[in-house]
Amino acid sequence: MTSRTAERIGGGAVILIILALFLLVRAEPETLKPLSLLQINDLRAEAGQTETVTRNGTVTASVSAMDVLEVLGASPEDATSAAVALRDASPTRGQRLRPGTALSAWFEAGEDGRERLAGVSAKLSPKATLVASRSSDGRFKANLLSARTTTALHRVAGRIDTSLADAIIAGGGTRQHADMFAGLFPEDPALAKGGRKGERFDAVIEVVTDERGNFLEAGDLVFAAFNGAKTSGSWYRFTPEDTGLPEFFSRSGVAGDEFLLRNPVRGGEMSSGFGNRMHPITGEMLLHAGIDFRAPVGTPIRAAGSGLVTDMRYGEGYGWFVRIRHERGYETVYAHMSGFAENLTPGRTVMRGEVIGYVGSTGSSTGAHLHYEVLRNGFYVNPETLALPTGRDISGNKAVLAAFEAQRDAIDTFRNEAAGSQLFAATASTARMTNAPAP
Ligand SMILES: [Zn+2]
Repeated sequence: MTSRTAERIGGGAVILIILALFLLVRAEPETLKPLSLLQINDLRAEAGQTETVTRNGTVTASVSAMDVLEVLGASPEDATSAAVALRDASPTRGQRLRPGTALSAWFEAGEDGRERLAGVSAKLSPKATLVASRSSDGRFKANLLSARTTTALHRVAGRIDTSLADAIIAGGGTRQHADMFAGLFPEDPALAKGGRKGERFDAVIEVVTDERGNFLEAGDLVFAAFNGAKTSGSWYRFTPEDTGLPEFFSRSGVAGDEFLLRNPVRGGEMSSGFGNRMHPITGEMLLHAGIDFRAPVGTPIRAAGSGLVTDMRYGEGYGWFVRIRHERGYETVYAHMSGFAENLTPGRTVMRGEVIGYVGSTGSSTGAHLHYEVLRNGFYVNPETLALPTGRDISGNKAVLAAFEAQRDAIDTFRNEAAGSQLFAATASTARMTNAPAP
């Protein structure tokens, strides 16, 4: 589970370089060019003097950062101190690092000549890295390094050849964009399975770059139009100021469909309903406050509705779980996950249908399934029988509608200008654009 690469590098000035890097990253944009985090190793290599060894490992659902550091060679005291420092400096303050987080630890000779942990970095996302290093009192202190980023729009349009996902990925998007796209056209279930050859699609996504224009990550889907055999239409992503929650609206300002998905696991089979039942592990009679969907470990779990991630962590019983607050007094909870979606953090807003994590069997669970709860005004309700409100219509609210129309028109203008789609300037060789008229 841990990959080990031992690299011989000089590292007397590691801490100074980290500090310098931190200052540079925070400096004024135009005066100093910040160093890429990737350059840390090169600088260490040039620093000479004491021998430093770097080793890498990965946090998993069952192996914490502290465990990883011990396996890599840190003393239990150092591993604890460094892990606590990382945890306290992370954006998910106080929570353990999420499964999949890559750790890079470096070791150097201590005063007694024996190897000891000097520092550790945890890559949280393409935009953020936590770095903990030993301070003069021997304890570890951590800082969050954030890359300054720019968000640009990127258009991917054309005809489906093999599948919608292949076409979107070939144009610089992701599988998640294709999933979101297909979810906007539920009248045609074939689209979620790839669509039909020749059907036309048009998508606009956000692309996050660092200040030198290097691609960091793909952002949200902001526009989706489809012209297929069974359905067609256009959807614009927009965040009304009054709710702060992003949703997709039609050209005239109506959000689609019901406001919560009935089943957050596509293809998941309901294995246990809402109501009183005997707890499968303790044998007690308890209210089963949600419904269970059986699905293989790793099956994507979708946000039932647009909302704010208010909690995501490991909970007794729940295992890895996510809690989302929606509009109109609703909340949803997703438990026993094997992992969270990349980039998901507390305080982030998610869209209906967006992948937030993966099915697992963590916490009190007897097999891979999603335990899904819906709360209305703080009370558990049965998601199966719940009468759900339909999507919002903003066409009656003048101020909100005007803001929506401005954004809609900006997206349309961009689409016209990007008809020959030439984005990804920095990585043009890796992104092949499909040139085709809009559907
Ligand atoms: Zn359950």
